[in-house]
Amino acid sequence: MRRGLPGAVLFDRDGTLIRDVPYNGDPGRVRPMPHARAAVDAVRERGIPVAVVTNQSGVARGLLTLGAVEAVRRRVEELLGPFDLWAVCPHGPGDGCACRKPAPGLIRAACAALGTDPRRAAVLGDIGADLAAARAAGAHGVLVPNDMTRPEETAAAARTAPDLLTAVRRLTARPEGADGVLVPNDVTRPEETAAAARTAPDLLTAVRRLTARPEGDP
Ligand SMILES: [Mg+2]
Ligand SMILES: [Zn+2]
Repeated sequence: MRRGLPGAVLFDRDGTLIRDVPYNGDPGRVRPMPHARAAVDAVRERGIPVAVVTNQSGVARGLLTLGAVEAVRRRVEELLGPFDLWAVCPHGPGDGCACRKPAPGLIRAACAALGTDPRRAAVLGDIGADLAAARAAGAHGVLVPNDMTRPEETAAAARTAPDLLTAVRRLTARPEGADGVLVPNDVTRPEETAAAARTAPDLLTAVRRLTARPEGDP
């Protein structure tokens, strides 16, 4: 994650992708958070898998059925598009499961299913438990606080972003210092050549330009 794009971006659901309505099992009450669609689309456009990692203790508490969780999932995907994976913890805080955030189980399971090393995964969430789970899994956590996020959690977060789209743009920005050069061949699409910031007619020219002294240097 220091350099290069994330291997996967894992989003918390409640308070991150959609407004947090406690123990909500009603698809009609699903409301996206600001910029959620644009943020998830920006990740998809980079070809990076997107997943949801969510604690749903309402199931263990008898306040939600798995069918209701599934109905909400379908509504979220209607609004925000499809996710490559949903990892849901249905347990309660007293169940001692390995998946409920802040435990790392959900994140590890999602990364395993997506074929990504957790150290290359980014986790976006709105509370300290999301970041603690990311840290425990070795992933790159970013806190996107909302009105309900406790100030001490924001203060304790290693990384924060003011909104989801900013968080995603930072994650998918071109790595510093990595200068891509397109060397087109006869199967390179013309629009790809046109869109490239830098091109060279052949490999040797590309390398010579990269290793040449700046003009004017002695
Ligand atoms: Mg949340
Ligand atoms: Zn669990």
